[in-house]
Amino acid sequence: MIHIEYTSRATSVRTAPTVCMHCAEPACASVCPADAIKIDADGVVLGAMAERCIGCGNCALACPFGVPKLHAEQHLMRKCDLCYDRTAIGQKPMCATVCPSGALFYGTREEVEDLRRARPLNHVLFGEQAVRTRNHLMAPGHADLLPIAGALTPPRSRAEQQLEEALW
Ligand code: SF4
Ligand code: SF4
Repeated sequence: MIHIEYTSRATSVRTAPTVCMHCAEPACASVCPADAIKIDADGVVLGAMAERCIGCGNCALACPFGVPKLHAEQHLMRKCDLCYDRTAIGQKPMCATVCPSGALFYGTREEVEDLRRARPLNHVLFGEQAVRTRNHLMAPGHADLLPIAGALTPPRSRAEQQLEEALW
């Protein structure tokens, strides 16, 4: 499951998908007190196990990309798991299957390098902290690191703001 953000709701229908970056050392899993977020043998960071997740929200606060979403009524975190039910049987994730412009691509790094002029990067810099991911973002130029400004952090939902206020 991915979620879609409107980039400027009042003036445009343009949207940006938020997919899990499948971090090499996922902060979401490391802060989970219930050990509800598992990583498979290929490095796919799975969604929360419903029987374990207690809806505490730690993962939503820890993720640098703003990916996990809390479903308060279900006490469950949900996030993109690369459509594990599809990829486990050799199919592409649904987002990459239906994207009409090919903005989302599922395949190897070598395949996407052959198709695009931009360069796939999987080293993202948040301030002084570098995060290595299994998903890649396409970026122009020859930089090895992709710096993310704090201002680009996606807005938090009301539930996440309340949780943050309660914790701090
Ligand atoms: S992008 Fe966020 S939710 Fe996905 S693995 Fe990294 S820390 Fe976890
Ligand atoms: S919301 Fe669920 S998956 Fe996320 S940290 Fe809390 S128990 Fe773990």
